[in-house]
Amino acid sequence: IEKIRTGTEEGRVVFSFEFFPPKTEDGVDNLFERMDRMVAHNPAFCDITWGAGGSTADLTLEIANKMQNMVCVETMMHLTCTNMPVEKINHALDTIKANGIQNVLALRGDPPHGQSRFIQIEGGFACAFDLVNHIRENYGNYFGITVAGYPEGHPDVISENGTVGLEAYLNELAYLKSKVDAGADLIITQLFYDTDIFLKFVSDCRQTGITCPIVPGIMPINNYKGFLRMTGFCKTKIPSEITAALEPIKDNDEAVRSYGVHLGTEMCKKIIANGINTLHLYTLNMEKSALAILRNLGLIDDNRISRSLPWRRPTNIYRI
Ligand code: FAD
Repeated sequence: IEKIRTGTEEGRVVFSFEFFPPKTEDGVDNLFERMDRMVAHNPAFCDITWGAGGSTADLTLEIANKMQNMVCVETMMHLTCTNMPVEKINHALDTIKANGIQNVLALRGDPPHGQSRFIQIEGGFACAFDLVNHIRENYGNYFGITVAGYPEGHPDVISENGTVGLEAYLNELAYLKSKVDAGADLIITQLFYDTDIFLKFVSDCRQTGITCPIVPGIMPINNYKGFLRMTGFCKTKIPSEITAALEPIKDNDEAVRSYGVHLGTEMCKKIIANGINTLHLYTLNMEKSALAILRNLGLIDDNRISRSLPWRRPTNIYRI
């Protein structure tokens, strides 16, 4: 949060990259090579996801440690409550604390595979609010805590026809404020493709009394099927002009990627023009589209990479 605050106070736009744990050892090696190249562009931080249902717990912990201490980038680890009794939560938090990681994205998580509703396990937590409280009560101010926000509403409250009732929307905002009041420093949003919905969400959050930074989660469209899968899963609204632009090129991966870069650039331009100086890129472990968007925005310059490879700098502990 300090890095984001300092950056925005200085009038800079700061950006961050999200990665997920790859399935194979080769994939992990490739990821670190890619991360090295991407980190050379000076993101405020990078984060690593916690596999659905805790499926990647050990790998996520290992990758987070390497990110912080070998890639030497300010690291945030995601942590969910799914299938996690408090002992396991504490183990994860103690491990990253011992490794010098100071940033956690505290999440409830989705229901385990095969269950439609999230059910609190015995000795575990019911929601992200509980996890934020737990972290603050047991770890004081050591961790910078981020929580998730949903500009279009969480999928649980989106109806079959894709709408969210006013009461449910206001409940979501009130609940989000309670996560912040419990100790969260930062909100990162779910992906969206309608920038106006994000801007309205920020304004509604401000009216609700949420004052912390709200960072837009931007997912560049890399391929058509993946885009449909993610937006279907998250029940994301797709503006008609995006559907119209993708329809004729959907079988041409290169054209889809190039449109994704164009769209991501235009979305970010509008977000920045509205006074929001932070961008979070869901990279899906791919570097080209995320970097192309930042390049188009003038936020990175390949001729001025801050550290030539291979580089290593001493761990520099800040809170995001
Ligand atoms: P919560 O904040 O607990 O909220 C879940 C829903 O319940 C919301 O609709 C909320 O309004 C409602 N709710 C809960 N408690 C209350 C209450 N007391 N009163 C009113 N409403 C309540 N999943 C993973 O498995 N691994 C990841 O690494 C991961 N990373 C993510 C990163 C981001 C930025 C985002 C946006 C999502 C991520 N997810 C991840 C998905 C996330 O786990 C799911 O969306 C999950 O269903 C909800 O988690 P949450 O922390 O938002 O839940």
